[in-house]
Amino acid sequence: MAILVLGGAGYIGSHTVRQLVRAGRDVVVADNLLTGFRQAVDPKARFYQLDIRDRQALDRLFGQEDVQGVIHFAGSSLVGESMRLPLKYYENNLWGTTVLLQSMVDHGVDKIVFSSTAAVYGEPGQILIGEEDTTEPTNCYGQTKLAMEHMMKWAAQAHGLRYVALRYFNACGADSAGDIGEAHDPETHLIPLILQVPNGRRDKISIFGEDYDTPDGTCVRDYIHVTDLAQAHILAMDYLMVGKESNVFNLGNGIGFTVKQVIDAARRVTGHPIPAQVCHRRAGDPARLVASSEKARKLLGWDPRFGDLETIVASAWKWHSTHPQGYDG
Ligand code: UDP
Repeated sequence: MAILVLGGAGYIGSHTVRQLVRAGRDVVVADNLLTGFRQAVDPKARFYQLDIRDRQALDRLFGQEDVQGVIHFAGSSLVGESMRLPLKYYENNLWGTTVLLQSMVDHGVDKIVFSSTAAVYGEPGQILIGEEDTTEPTNCYGQTKLAMEHMMKWAAQAHGLRYVALRYFNACGADSAGDIGEAHDPETHLIPLILQVPNGRRDKISIFGEDYDTPDGTCVRDYIHVTDLAQAHILAMDYLMVGKESNVFNLGNGIGFTVKQVIDAARRVTGHPIPAQVCHRRAGDPARLVASSEKARKLLGWDPRFGDLETIVASAWKWHSTHPQGYDG
């Protein structure tokens, strides 16, 4: 019996595959390799190159492999891009998941853990965001992920599926081995962009807005190590395997850092001055997103271990300093 990881060649997917393999699980990976990398997939996993919108390819995979449960990362995940190309997000995230669920139902695969996001909350009213808080996404990416959650809910009710939606805050860092890490093209995420400066790939980092209602005026985010996120997916699959009900969990550290604090941590870790320049706000960015992850700690037994900002940045630096061009370099 295998766990199927869709999008397992991507950033969080490849780290989850790595942790599953380390835990001795049988792992199948499917990825269309549009944004993922074949080299990121652990050699102990069986790999299929396919797009989840391709119903026939999915059916063949479910026919060939004895899939016990699905961990679903396959989709588009960039806030800025989702504001420019909303239909791409509806197509990849919603249509892709529709085809996947149809195929799962037809093959009797009834457990799915999937990536949701803190972006479902929009501009939150609470200091620490809980799962019951209002969901009003301020960007199209968050909207499509919220719609995926709703799709799961109705499909679960009608077809007897069970699901866990994991609402990630800011995924970052890299596996301790230093051979897999974050590699997006174009890169839009804060920590890899900052580290391009000491890597000699950019002159300075841009700070998107200094006029937010936060301690230093820059946006506050909850940065959570990718290995801790990976562990949560395994715990969530185990939770479904013992027969527990569908659920939604936040995954974060419960501590917020400003953009300027992250830049300072990178200066300390790398020893590079990392010049920064303040520019305009980025469309769709809420001022502050910090998780309460009490529910995941309590019900999943999740215990994030790499929450310290310098530990996170140091693990990212280990990957980026040895792979300045990502998997291509
Ligand atoms: N950010 C920034 N400069 C950059 C990239 C990001 O100031 O070059 C800010 C962005 O506005 C947000 C935070 O860093 O407040 C984290 O952004 P990222 O894109 O990494 O993740 P998001 O919060 O959008 O999921």
